[in-house]
Amino acid sequence: AALRELLLSRIADVPDYPKPGVMFKDITPLLADPAAFGALTDALAGLCERHGADKVVGLEARGFILAAPVAVRAGLGFVPVRKAGKLPGTTLGQSYELEYGTAEIEMHADALKPGERVLVIDDVLATGGTADASLQLIRRAGAEVAGVAVLMELGFLAGRQRLEPGLKGAPLEAL
Ligand code: 5GP
Repeated sequence: AALRELLLSRIADVPDYPKPGVMFKDITPLLADPAAFGALTDALAGLCERHGADKVVGLEARGFILAAPVAVRAGLGFVPVRKAGKLPGTTLGQSYELEYGTAEIEMHADALKPGERVLVIDDVLATGGTADASLQLIRRAGAEVAGVAVLMELGFLAGRQRLEPGLKGAPLEAL
């Protein structure tokens, strides 16, 4: 409860960003506060241990910022899942539905070993489309989903419901 209050106090609400009617959750104040960023990193590293993760996947771009120090703290490798066209090696790609149109994410095809347990980290779970696509990439690579961990879940967008089939019983943790 104390962690939750600390984290919430360092997230700013920005109205009408990136477009009118959207209330954007800005995590830059949290990143600028070493106590809050450190507490978040510790909590996420604890989830790696609790859920038996072997690797940490971060989702571009804010997921990278959160997941990289978690991987170091937990003593695990970090794997980036990027927007299409950004990774130099052979990739697996997964497209997913947006409100208007589609998007595609990619991961290096050899980034995960078969059977490895992967914790996916991102800053915000909104509609759940990005996280859901990452779970499909992880499974197509032959790895297992240890769970999804986010700083914040926007409950009114029902991302948890969209993600549930893809989780196949793995936990979704929102700090
Ligand atoms: P989804 O695919 O769940 O709809 O969108 C999640 C992705 O969009 C995440 O990678 C997240 O970084 C970004 N996102 C959506 N809404 C917000 C927001 O209000 N604040 C932040 N920081 N990221 C958001």
